[in-house]
Amino acid sequence: MIRVKCNHNATLYYAYHLAKAFLPDREITSEVIPEQEDAVCLEGEISLRAATERDLYTALRDLTGQDLPWGMLTGVRPTKLATLWLEEHLAGQEEHPADPAASDGSCGEWQQAFAEWFYRDRFVSEAKAKVAFQIARKERKICRELEGDEPSVLSDGKRYLPGWSLYIGIPFCPSVCSYCSFSSGSIHVYRDRVDRYLEALFREMQQKAQMYGTWPSTVYIGGGTPTSLNEEQLERLLSEADRIFALPEGLKAGKIREYTVEAGRPDSITEGKLRVLKQHGVTRISINPQSMQQKTLDVIGRSHTTQQIRDAFQMARELGFDNINMDIIAGLPGETQADMDDTLRQIREMSPDSLTVHSLAIKRSSAIGIRKKLAEKSGGETGPIADSGEISRMIDDAYHAAREMGMEPYYLYRQKSIAGNFENIGYARPEKEGLYNILIIEEVQSILACGAGASTKLLYPEPVPNPARNGQLTHMIRRENVKDIDEYIRRWEQETGESHA
Ligand code: SF4
Repeated sequence: MIRVKCNHNATLYYAYHLAKAFLPDREITSEVIPEQEDAVCLEGEISLRAATERDLYTALRDLTGQDLPWGMLTGVRPTKLATLWLEEHLAGQEEHPADPAASDGSCGEWQQAFAEWFYRDRFVSEAKAKVAFQIARKERKICRELEGDEPSVLSDGKRYLPGWSLYIGIPFCPSVCSYCSFSSGSIHVYRDRVDRYLEALFREMQQKAQMYGTWPSTVYIGGGTPTSLNEEQLERLLSEADRIFALPEGLKAGKIREYTVEAGRPDSITEGKLRVLKQHGVTRISINPQSMQQKTLDVIGRSHTTQQIRDAFQMARELGFDNINMDIIAGLPGETQADMDDTLRQIREMSPDSLTVHSLAIKRSSAIGIRKKLAEKSGGETGPIADSGEISRMIDDAYHAAREMGMEPYYLYRQKSIAGNFENIGYARPEKEGLYNILIIEEVQSILACGAGASTKLLYPEPVPNPARNGQLTHMIRRENVKDIDEYIRRWEQETGESHA
């Protein structure tokens, strides 16, 4: 047991997460001791004191003998600093500056200068600095194109996109994966309430449409797995979205730049459902293997085969989907670097348009705890979870595989307690980037979100009092819908005076 003690609340959160990143398998508690002289003290199995966050990082580094790939950064958006650096260094240049990349595809002096600064300032490794720089450049370019001729600027100087994007959440899946950190439910368990959920959702969509006219810039239907709805329900969902938000007109007028539906699980995909998506103008879908190793799919509770992944992908291509994303996860239980390499080989054969590489997020329990949980669920022993060195090599292999497929990294985010302090990275071929992913991660546009657990983010040009931060002035206000599916249905039925109780 390690106790993290800080003399101020503001430091506590950071100190706890930094300690957890260095020592992921230890039990760590945290508390504020206002009268404590040192800013941070670690007691118990480890004893150390630090006056600043930087001192804490170097003390933990010396103690463990390791650097963290993202150095001192524990936040979810490490690329933000790269974006700021670029803005600062490109300031005064023309609006669309010449691409600073060298002809060999590296970013030459710019990247080197940034990497040196990033290590000096935050101890970020050269490899991570390189990815952050490339992503910041790519996002800057895409956002400039979306802005058009008249950039909008927040009162703090940050550029943003006027208008809004739409998220619709379907919190059901064919079965619940053992590692799932979303509040998704099995469609089989909720079968008798899916129609009521959809009715509740349509009411919320209607209300949001009345509040914010005009068309969304992008539409994203996610979850969960939206294609776990049956064909008739999926048709009804997309028809209601068309009617409420005038999507066909917006797509035709070129105002809606992207329409994504997460087809996610291959065991939810049928030709009929893909045809429904096509008829409604969906431009981008995801078919997510997570792994192409059958032993792993069995262990993590994905009730489908690797052949179903190949079949679903092939079917989508034959029906004309020319922007298909695939998700994979590094560090799944029992997987080695060789397994990841084989998964990447099979993905290269399918040749998707974009690839999102996640690292297994470990929430609240250690790797050993997760193995136990998975073993209980699968009724057998799972293999070991790879150590951080091996996960790091898997991530590197994915980077090179994506490059070989002609993709570049275009968005990145981290989760708290992610295995080995790594990150999730989206790669895409040119013009195939998921615009919604950039908008939501970079927080450069309002997102109206409908559905259980969905989170609306409203961006204001002038700062407004933020109730979630004790009235502090911020540009972004977040409003979260209730996560519990039954409670979500109940609230919307109450709102309209209906009850099925
Ligand atoms: S498919 Fe995704 S959302 Fe559904 S249970 Fe698995 S991890 Fe969770």
